[in-house]
Amino acid sequence: MYDGIVVGAGPAGGAAAYHLAKAGRNVLLLERETLPRYKPCGGGVSPQVQQWFDFDFAPAISLTVQQIRYTWQGGDPQTAPLETREPVWMVRRNVFDHFLVQQAQKQGATVRDRAVVTGLQRRGDRWWVQLEGGEEVAGRFLVGADGARGSTAKWLGFKERKRRMGAALEVEAPAANHDTSAAHFDFGAIANGYIWNFPKVDGYSIGSGTFLGGEKQNLKEIAAQYAQTFGIETSTMTQYGHPLCLWDGPQKLHTEGALLAGEAACVVDPFTAEGIRPALLTGMLAAQALDRALAGDHAALAWYSDEVQRQWGEDMEWAKRIAAVFYRVPGFAYKVGVKRPAATKRMGQILSGELRYRDVAGAAVKRLTQGLLPGLR
Ligand SMILES: Cc1cc2nc3c(=O)[nH]c(=O)nc-3n(C[C@H](O)[C@H](O)[C@H](O)COP(=O)(O)OP(=O)(O)OC[C@H]3O[C@@H](n4cnc5c(N)ncnc54)[C@H](O)[C@@H]3O)c2cc1C
Repeated sequence: MYDGIVVGAGPAGGAAAYHLAKAGRNVLLLERETLPRYKPCGGGVSPQVQQWFDFDFAPAISLTVQQIRYTWQGGDPQTAPLETREPVWMVRRNVFDHFLVQQAQKQGATVRDRAVVTGLQRRGDRWWVQLEGGEEVAGRFLVGADGARGSTAKWLGFKERKRRMGAALEVEAPAANHDTSAAHFDFGAIANGYIWNFPKVDGYSIGSGTFLGGEKQNLKEIAAQYAQTFGIETSTMTQYGHPLCLWDGPQKLHTEGALLAGEAACVVDPFTAEGIRPALLTGMLAAQALDRALAGDHAALAWYSDEVQRQWGEDMEWAKRIAAVFYRVPGFAYKVGVKRPAATKRMGQILSGELRYRDVAGAAVKRLTQGLLPGLR
């Protein structure tokens, strides 16, 4: 009988398990894969996340970047410094996520990998979690942190969730003596998204993503062509696609004795597709809420839904507005937005938590909206 059971050992589940265990709670973290597990991801992480943990993430960071290089359909390059207090982290997710899980273990969390959750049942005042093979484990509280493909939200009865589905594809390309000076973004070759190349110490993470939903695009082909511009032939490498559960509006993230965190809670930024920072944030907030609930605070789970909206959702409203205009007029947006060094500075400050979208988004949307006017594009 656990105080809390966390389903999924990604950044949301790892953060929830870490903070719950640190608070002295008896926590079980369940992961279907063998750890460390691979997750298709660019692995760009905001340094802001360090402030939510009292251990140093340095051993889990492959390298850091302090500049961004943009291109429009492979040409018209622009390199701009990030100008943030801390550089942006580039991580390999198998390393990063496992490091976090190990920190949770050090705090006393019980971690079980190859533990596939197949269903949930509320009996009395606890959640019974069914595992493949027939075993059941019980917890007073539950955190659904099983990502974009998970089923806990459905099992917990969250029926009409506000979310926008996107899709992205990643290939981890080994390389030596490669360019590690910048994170690369290309716009224009893909509708409603971008292509990226994020360097790691031992190679690149190259991928393509589309974030507004609905479009059928050949993400594989687009990423492969882009990889060739870095001298990388991806046709013989495994390319992993994965859905994205993007934020699409405020919603209740709690139910009786349970919370949703990370991508299961649809917190991915609908403009940039950043999902690691909100996963860590919501995992931490979920642990705080459960710790309070375990201490008898009946309002703690509702507090969680409100707090996620306050600390993240309010900004995502702005991110959604920017995305709606930006991806409608990407050529114009590239010219008047992306290519301005001030825009990189602002975006860097947003990504590192030094600014919030709401501080700058009004002006950005106004500038981009001019692109909708005929004659000004
Ligand atoms: C191609 C791609 C590139 C991306 N690039 C970036 C980036 O550069 N920066 C960024 O910030 N975000 C990026 N994202 C988004 C980011 O990867 C996700 O938002 C983030 O992983 C969400 O974390 P999570 O903990 O909520 O879920 P996940 O990391 O998906 O973890 C969920 C875990 O739950 C486990 N699980 C699922 N079902 C069960 C079950 N039934 N039983 C037990 N365990 C289960 C899964 O195996 C998984 O390990 C990218 C996404 C994609 C697809």
